[in-house]
Amino acid sequence: MTVLVASDLDRTLIYSRDAAEVDALDGLLCVETYQDAPLSYLSEKAAAGLAALVERTEFVPVTTRTREQYKRINLPIPPRRYAICANGGHLLVNGVPDPRWHRAVRQRLAAGSADLAEVSEWLAKTADPQWTLKHREAEDLFCYLVVDRTAMPSSYVDEMIGWCDPRGWEVSVQGRKVYAVPRDLTKSGAVAEVAGRMEADTVLAAGDSLLDAELLAAADAAVRPGHGELADSNWSAPRVQALTERGIAGGEAVVEWLLAAADHRVSSAGLGYAL
Ligand SMILES: [Mg+2]
Repeated sequence: MTVLVASDLDRTLIYSRDAAEVDALDGLLCVETYQDAPLSYLSEKAAAGLAALVERTEFVPVTTRTREQYKRINLPIPPRRYAICANGGHLLVNGVPDPRWHRAVRQRLAAGSADLAEVSEWLAKTADPQWTLKHREAEDLFCYLVVDRTAMPSSYVDEMIGWCDPRGWEVSVQGRKVYAVPRDLTKSGAVAEVAGRMEADTVLAAGDSLLDAELLAAADAAVRPGHGELADSNWSAPRVQALTERGIAGGEAVVEWLLAAADHRVSSAGLGYAL
């Protein structure tokens, strides 16, 4: 019985200081440093749950981060056989990008969506430098802005959706980042590829943002925390559990749910893991 657990990372398992929604950093492990400063945390409780999860399942990190950004993260678990970066654009096999998968993704994108250059140019033209801190292209696949959320008018995101949607691109706002991602660049596509290679019997998934919606909907069962774009928009789908816990406690509840769901599936299959 192979249970594949496909989990988003940022704001699902790991949290920045702000996203953690805690007063103090007690009980949190730093799992990412950037420019000599701590950037992301995992709670000790979630870490213990994660350790149990990787023993019982095939745990696959699934992130919109670029490969370089992903490599900054040090989860307290053994290296993963598979990891998915760039929202499905790169499949790492034992840490090495699979060129065949990446070629197939590029072919699919060339057939379906507007070019990155066109979208990036629109962002450059429309994003006001007053509230735009950075404008980045990621892995030559998608682009994002780092913005001052308090200064950015909320109408800008609506305007962006209005422009991107007919061009086959999706918009997602996560913390200070505003992403534009081709609709055909999906986490679920890459997870389906991994599930096929592993001959997984079942897929469990976790995520918090709009870019995770299709991942959760495609899984056999899935979970989301009480914060994030999916919670804020009251998004729901069959077989997706909506938790109420937020911040770092949301991450702990997600891990707990994944463990219980994995154990349930294994014991239903009659193989009886000892807990
Ligand atoms: Mg996330």
